[in-house]
Amino acid sequence: MGKVSKNIADIKSEIGNEKVALVAISKTKPASMIEEAYDFGHLDFGENKAQELSEKSENLPKEIRWHFVGHLQRNKVKYIAPFVHLIHSVDSLRLLKAINKEGEKNDRIIDCLLQVHIAEESTKFGFDEKELIELLNDTDLSTLRHVKITGLMGMATFTEDTKQIKREFSGLKKLFDELATNYKLANVDFQELSMGMSGDYTIAIGCGSTMVRIGSSIFGERNYA
Ligand SMILES: *Cc1c(COP(=O)(O)O)cnc(C)c1O
Repeated sequence: MGKVSKNIADIKSEIGNEKVALVAISKTKPASMIEEAYDFGHLDFGENKAQELSEKSENLPKEIRWHFVGHLQRNKVKYIAPFVHLIHSVDSLRLLKAINKEGEKNDRIIDCLLQVHIAEESTKFGFDEKELIELLNDTDLSTLRHVKITGLMGMATFTEDTKQIKREFSGLKKLFDELATNYKLANVDFQELSMGMSGDYTIAIGCGSTMVRIGSSIFGERNYA
């Protein structure tokens, strides 16, 4: 068994019987590594650059479910709209409208998560709680028939302080549960709570994550030029 497959197997056995989906974040990594994981039976992969995602998808099996996890510019939505499985990182109504427009062009409904800002760092994108409620109450939302909001995504602060990480993830889970009960529209159905990365996924699962996004623990450290 190759290194990538072994890492996936190890993480899956650690997740065990929890109903948590594993998205393998393959950004910056070569198609050959994705192929190894695919041959091993893994289908969910995530990228954070629209063009990189589009290029990789062209050269890899069509059964792969591609997730988008980074900051998405409105003019880049077109690269991924024809096939993307789930966009984890919607951080504005303007972006959601752009995704809806491309969904319409491609005659499909694109599943999206709203990214919530839960970390201490000010650099991370996302809605705060108030902005999220505003969006969900916006009358424009129900007119967007080519997107579906299926949940929330959040990234915890990059810290060794596990108590803080736990506090941030638990806060997001609480918000998720409230919204899931209070907001049911034709295009809003809270099912997925995407939280947890290589450094904090066990904490995230303990706090109610339904989907973890793991890169370096599967593919190794990333080298940025
Ligand atoms: C890169 C990335 C990940 C994976 O990070 P690792 O620490 O390598 O597991 C998860 N989520 C998002 C949004 C990312 O950009």
